[in-house]
Amino acid sequence: MQQIIDDIAAQMASKTDKGKVASYIPQLAQVAPEQFAITVALPDGAIYSAGCAKTLFSIQSISKVFTLTLALGKLGERLWNRVGREPSGDPFNSIVQLEHENGKPRNPFINAGAITVADIILQGHQPKETLAEILQFMRFVANDDTISIDEKVARSELETGDRNASLAHFMASFGHFENPVDSVLGTYFHHCSIAMNTIQLATAGLFLANDGVNPTTGYRVVSPKRAKRINSLMLMCGHYDGSGEFAFRVGLPGKSGVGGGIMAVAPGKASIAVWAPGLDPIGNSKLGTQALELLARKTGWSVFGQ
Ligand code: GLU
Repeated sequence: MQQIIDDIAAQMASKTDKGKVASYIPQLAQVAPEQFAITVALPDGAIYSAGCAKTLFSIQSISKVFTLTLALGKLGERLWNRVGREPSGDPFNSIVQLEHENGKPRNPFINAGAITVADIILQGHQPKETLAEILQFMRFVANDDTISIDEKVARSELETGDRNASLAHFMASFGHFENPVDSVLGTYFHHCSIAMNTIQLATAGLFLANDGVNPTTGYRVVSPKRAKRINSLMLMCGHYDGSGEFAFRVGLPGKSGVGGGIMAVAPGKASIAVWAPGLDPIGNSKLGTQALELLARKTGWSVFGQ
């Protein structure tokens, strides 16, 4: 495994087109594009890394997998009254579908869906309390108490978050929100601004690769059925309107973030985190996707077969 990922890291280092770092969040635009990291965490506890696997980056939309897990823990199946579970085929921050579908987002991973999930998790609490709960959950699944929120990124998102604010107000206009829009948005921007490295992220995803139990700690995080369903949502919706392409090329459930990270799950086999800040035009990590494509090919881990 070490040889496989060293080889992948070397191949990625030689690529000249590394994509473009996200610029609509000014703080993310400052990240150096040539960085690359990959970590593969196995259910037996073995962890393999290559590249700058200890460098923290903004996990952005990857956080939506964990807020969805928390929201499912609170509402169970009733969550699906508020959010759909179909691929959107639209960009991550699109407002178009929302009007046709009366303010009910297509899935929990597009921005509108994740903002709704933030409303669900808030349950009348102050954003500060809810963020503490989200952080505690991240630390629990990653088995690492140092994980925290990058306040500079959160502020940067807040200051430039007109599109997300529009989505939130639009949904609120249908009477769907239970908390003040500002509290929901503040919670959303802050959980997107959690900073992690690929070792922490691969560890955090292990419960999804291991029928709901995090083998690092031995704790059950979710039931096997729930783990399976979160994985299926990641496969169908984890890369926005690039989800079909990612399934075609990589064949693993995965969730991307505009910080350039991707968390992918090979059920029963491994949890993988990659980070390369340059994005493709859809907003998914360009080299991260290529690295996962190579890894899936070399290991035969695609859920669709060899
Ligand atoms: N916080 C980002 C936004 O709302 C998340 C987008 C992403 O990572 O894809 O625009």
